[in-house]
Amino acid sequence: MAAQLEDLDQVRDQSVQLKEIRTFDPERQGRWSFSSQQATLRRLNKAFAGFFRRVKAGEKPGYPRFKGVGRFDTVTFPKDGDGCRWDSTPHDRQVRVRLQGVGHIRVHQHRPVKGRVKTISVKREGRRWYVVLACDNVPAEPLPTAGSIVGIDMGTVHFFTDSNGVHVENPKFLDKMAAELAAAQQHLATFPKDTRRRTKKHRAAARNVAKLHAKVRRQRLDHHHKQAYALVRKHDVIGHEKLNTVDLTKAPGPKPDPDNDGAFLPNGATAKAGLNKSILDAGWGQFLGILANKAESAGRRVIPVDPRNTSRTCPQCGHVNRENRDGEKFQCTACDHRDHADRVGAWNVKLRAGLVLPDVV
Ligand SMILES: [Zn+2]
Repeated sequence: MAAQLEDLDQVRDQSVQLKEIRTFDPERQGRWSFSSQQATLRRLNKAFAGFFRRVKAGEKPGYPRFKGVGRFDTVTFPKDGDGCRWDSTPHDRQVRVRLQGVGHIRVHQHRPVKGRVKTISVKREGRRWYVVLACDNVPAEPLPTAGSIVGIDMGTVHFFTDSNGVHVENPKFLDKMAAELAAAQQHLATFPKDTRRRTKKHRAAARNVAKLHAKVRRQRLDHHHKQAYALVRKHDVIGHEKLNTVDLTKAPGPKPDPDNDGAFLPNGATAKAGLNKSILDAGWGQFLGILANKAESAGRRVIPVDPRNTSRTCPQCGHVNRENRDGEKFQCTACDHRDHADRVGAWNVKLRAGLVLPDVV
């Protein structure tokens, strides 16, 4: 432990060391952007700080993983103009980015840049390279008032159900790719692990696995953007359940068997693992982040509400009872209101979001 704490101090001193290294080896180290190298050190520092915080809190620490040349795939330039320049050839129709030590690189621009470019990241995904821009002073583009407030109930069977009873399907991109991905991973596993002796075929197999994962990520991201945009376009206020996906997906702890020393009872890990996979596949955290961003730029409100009893409360009469719900069916034991359980959840979310903003209901 003492040795590890010394490591952390070393990380803090690395910025000074970096300067020395650059002076000592101007050809291989000094030619790159100093700010960008510092940004990498900050990332490293953050990883170690997180590790020590978890050790201190008694959580499972997870030592930061060494990123060899095959895993190190993002370089960040913290400030446009410092070691990098977006749109470095403004008088040319071809958009380029200039990176210190590399030169001007042609960019295939997917979307127009809005606002002022602040940071530039260069990211490798398989054989593709991406430039990721973070901008500030992005102009807001308010949408006309829609006169509607909606609640959504996030699920796994359906991606979400809204308070009007409309289900949005969960496309489960990872499941659809499962067979192909398993085959690619099995093929990759046939190669020896020693990376120094990777053959051309080994590298191709690794690339193929990375490519399939990247495809799932892109499909999911695209789906999230589309669904978030549809909500923001149609509604002024969008309520959703405040979710803690970290807690939801945490693995259940081992459960010791009191009658049998050293043995463990089944802890439901298998069933929960299946649920975890669906939750992660649905990617709620990412979706809600996108939704919040789009809402902000469109002048809409997104309201996270207390999720307690949303599926057990009757939205007609307010009666709360566990027995109101039976799987997908909701039937109020007090007033006999009948509905789809997911719609009831979304309706209660809408009511709670409305309580925050009584003037819009
Ligand atoms: Zn009722």
